[in-house]
Amino acid sequence: MQAARFIEVGRMDVGGIPEPRPVRGEVLVQVAAAGVCGTDRHILKGEFPSRPPVVLGHEFSGTVVALGEGVTTHKVGDLVACDPNIACGACPSCLLGRINLCENLVAVGVHRDGGFAELSAFPAHRAIVLPPGLGLRDAAFSEPLACCIHALDIAAIRPGERAIIIGGGVIGLLCVQLARLAGAEVMLLTRSADRRRIGESVGAQITVTTPEEARTHWPRGADVVMECAGVGETVAEAPRLAARGGRVVVVGVLAKGETVAIEPFDLLVREVDLRMAFVNPFTQSRALHLLASGAIRTAPLVTREIGREELPAILAAKPGPTEVKVLVTG
Ligand SMILES: [Zn+2]
Ligand SMILES: [Zn+2]
Repeated sequence: MQAARFIEVGRMDVGGIPEPRPVRGEVLVQVAAAGVCGTDRHILKGEFPSRPPVVLGHEFSGTVVALGEGVTTHKVGDLVACDPNIACGACPSCLLGRINLCENLVAVGVHRDGGFAELSAFPAHRAIVLPPGLGLRDAAFSEPLACCIHALDIAAIRPGERAIIIGGGVIGLLCVQLARLAGAEVMLLTRSADRRRIGESVGAQITVTTPEEARTHWPRGADVVMECAGVGETVAEAPRLAARGGRVVVVGVLAKGETVAIEPFDLLVREVDLRMAFVNPFTQSRALHLLASGAIRTAPLVTREIGREELPAILAAKPGPTEVKVLVTG
């Protein structure tokens, strides 16, 4: 079968590899749609830990075509979305229910073969059956949406609060929609004019280009600031955009090892609460239900559909100012 594999830092190959066989407890899924994520770019640059050679792609959906031994929860023909994060269930974090903090966390498409391939085998308990009416293309958004739902849970937005979303990529534009659903007044901060337009079309009431412009609208700052750009500069800026007593949630992924200057005195005297949101613990079925309900719009976020052979070039390049989500559908 054809697959796009990460071989070593800076190198990705697209070509034929043996078809995976589902082992005990696994399902084999024919991949329908797989999203390209900023994390894939980080992996290719060696900025996010991975285990090459490995088929990338951790945001995907498809149809179950075979079952490994002992699988009773699924049947051939089921439409599923992959929740890529496999927790061990036995480490101290798992025993506390903090599965995203598992000490032995293994992610499909990061540490083991994922969805940039015709077929993918992974544990049945990570294959979530789609609610009726939800299409496979929309379901490919369920993993990034699940990460955003976790971030919203951590942000704990109350109706009537003001929220600034930094970054107009897919995470930012999904957080804009979730923050509106949570009852916030939402401002989107991004330099890209195209992304500001998309942000307005999916619910941002105010869009701005710079932190200075944000302050002219809300001089007191925002109750919640969500950093969704994964950029050091905006992580440093986020607390300064928060109101006294406000919360900052970092959702964006920075390169491993990158550091950022934060002023603890400022955080202290204004009691700005700096929080982190990592991946999607127990949130992906909620994401699928939200997508099925039509409450989250994905169509404006799909900027391109590509074939697997285009992946090496797409991942080696920086995302263009107009790119939001690239879906691999062929
Ligand atoms: Zn991702
Ligand atoms: Zn664990």
